[in-house]
Amino acid sequence: MNTINTHSVLNKLITLTNERDVLALEQSLAEALFELVGASDDDNVKSVVIYHPDDTRKQLLPAIVVGKSPEQDNSSLSFKQLLIDCFKSGEYCIYEQECASPIRLYPVKNAKDHTVAIIAIEAMVCGSHLHEVINLLLKIYQNFTGLINDNERDTLTGLLNRKTFDFRINKILVQMQEAAKLQSDKADQVYFLAIFDIDHFKRVNDEFGHLIGDEVLLLFSQLMTQTFRSNDPIFRFGGEEFVGVFECSSHDDIPNILNRFREKVGQFNFPQVGKVTVSAGYTEIFTYGLPSQLIDHADLALYFAKNNGRNRICFYEQLIADGDLQENKKEGDIELF
Ligand code: GH3
Ligand code: MG
Ligand code: MG
Repeated sequence: MNTINTHSVLNKLITLTNERDVLALEQSLAEALFELVGASDDDNVKSVVIYHPDDTRKQLLPAIVVGKSPEQDNSSLSFKQLLIDCFKSGEYCIYEQECASPIRLYPVKNAKDHTVAIIAIEAMVCGSHLHEVINLLLKIYQNFTGLINDNERDTLTGLLNRKTFDFRINKILVQMQEAAKLQSDKADQVYFLAIFDIDHFKRVNDEFGHLIGDEVLLLFSQLMTQTFRSNDPIFRFGGEEFVGVFECSSHDDIPNILNRFREKVGQFNFPQVGKVTVSAGYTEIFTYGLPSQLIDHADLALYFAKNNGRNRICFYEQLIADGDLQENKKEGDIELF
């Protein structure tokens, strides 16, 4: 039988509310639920899996797994369908299995009450009291992610803000270094950082006013979220400058991804304003790179794009190889002051 004591629940809350990053918070939630459900009997709980929708929103994929690799046949069609139904309806449901523990599906909602993820708990026993505590924990989690989101995001566009960039880029570099050390599959991936800057945006403000300028920024950011994959983070860096971090399986992908976006912007009809173009500079993120150096390199490539016709994308490493840009001789040197 499961016993839940106030002390253990409060401890889970302390751990949860100590996180400042939504991704870490989700991991912490999965761990807290795993401990909670297995509080007095480790064998009770097999796994806690958090599923996220993919970019098509037609299927849900495991993003966080705590516990033993799920023994249940959760790749079965009926389980996948139930996940989708639960995501669409936002209602709690149970997947019964003949030879294994049932899997309880809890929808996770955002501040607007839209379902954003599903938590699947595979456990033999989950009494009504425990079920209630899980629901309360999810409500607290929902309120807290709302607070963090407000802090992490830009108010006009809803994109991640510059402060979040500083935190996330360091995290990405640490993950790349770990993948390189462990020689994991991730070590074969290539990463790029791109800076996007709207061309002649000052003219938009001057000609149509600041409010219409803001609308262009909002529509532009929506084109970004529609074009890029949801696991490639995009940040509003300042005014009309945006930064994207892209994970690719080959070097050939990135110009296609960026040009597709550039063309999409060029074809879009911005209300009142009409046509707007964008330039971008990008650089490869090397495992032991420094965030400030990445920004400098992408910025130099962007500057080159601006000085060479705009409405184009330029790759820092290519500009160096072609002799169009000179490498900073101080790079690699250790500067003490
Ligand atoms: P370039 O092609 O060289 O990038 O030219 P530009 O006119 O876009 O570049 P510049 O950096 O000179 O101008 C950017 C303008 O963006 C200036 C500033 O007034 C405007 N801006 C910055 N933040 C905001 C904002 O939040 N809303 C609006 N409407 N305008 C903004
Ligand atoms: Mg600018
Ligand atoms: Mg500009």
